[in-house]
Amino acid sequence: MDKMELKALGKINLGLDVLGRRENGYHDVRMVMQTVYLYDQIRMEKTKKPGIELLTNLFYLPVNENNLAYQAADLLMKEFHVKEGVKITLDKHIPVAAGMAGGSSNAAAVLFGINRMFSLGLSQKELMERGVTLGADVPYCVMRGTVLAEGIGEILTPLPACPKCHVLIAKPPISVSTKLVYEKLDSHEIENHPDIDGIIDGLYDQDITKVASRMGNVLEKVTIEEYPVIEQIKNVMKEQGALNAMMSGSGPTVFGLYETKEKARKAAAKIREKQLAKQVYVTGIHNARRK
Ligand code: ATP
Repeated sequence: MDKMELKALGKINLGLDVLGRRENGYHDVRMVMQTVYLYDQIRMEKTKKPGIELLTNLFYLPVNENNLAYQAADLLMKEFHVKEGVKITLDKHIPVAAGMAGGSSNAAAVLFGINRMFSLGLSQKELMERGVTLGADVPYCVMRGTVLAEGIGEILTPLPACPKCHVLIAKPPISVSTKLVYEKLDSHEIENHPDIDGIIDGLYDQDITKVASRMGNVLEKVTIEEYPVIEQIKNVMKEQGALNAMMSGSGPTVFGLYETKEKARKAAAKIREKQLAKQVYVTGIHNARRK
């Protein structure tokens, strides 16, 4: 196989709780992760010239060892002494620095691609073990679907697939550093922990209304304090009939769950009209796990 086309899908958090902080700065989390059908397109081609060549449509992203896609390729190619090279083209659509694991998803797709392209024979578990050295969300991005993520995000328990719904995604024009949000959280007393078990019950009951009603993200308070636009977007999504709306990850992306595409589209139009966000997408959940 000399060429591959891959989709690196983004994620939302249906629930995000923080249980504590480790000495090394990492946090113990309890998150319900859900893949959505908003993706970066990745093209990979074998080259005779050794090394990694990376191209992307976003001029401000690094195309060297600072890019997670590069790091993923480098990790496997060094370990397996791959003699040939690879050219990777990233066509980015997932909002960047936005709480949707765009970079982690790129890394996961490249791990998967390099393993196939150079017939390295690694199992999914082995890819996930290597992935966590690149980022806490990478193992989840290798697995995909509806998953409970614990530890620093790498202890994964598959959950029943989220019932079908339409997802409205809106990213206001601000960038949020995940690291800074977690650091600020440390100075807060966490008063209300989200009902992660309630979300899981809702998934077992296949009841989307129950899942939506239990959604919660402990990081929202920290990011919203700095960027009230997040709350404004949530309110518009709810006024427009969302089952519920919440910030994803450390933000600033906000998502709303809708029973009909029509409602999601109307809400999207309202958000654009009010100029709360330019990057606004109506999409769906993606439940298939990676094979
Ligand atoms: P998470 O949801 O895991 O917190 P995120 O959505 O907050 O992720 P990313 O979009 O993954 O954040 O990007 C965070 C930073 O990582 C960016 O500022 C960017 O410079 C850097 N980065 C490195 N590689 C990539 C990549 N392939 N795609 C996007 N960002 C990348």
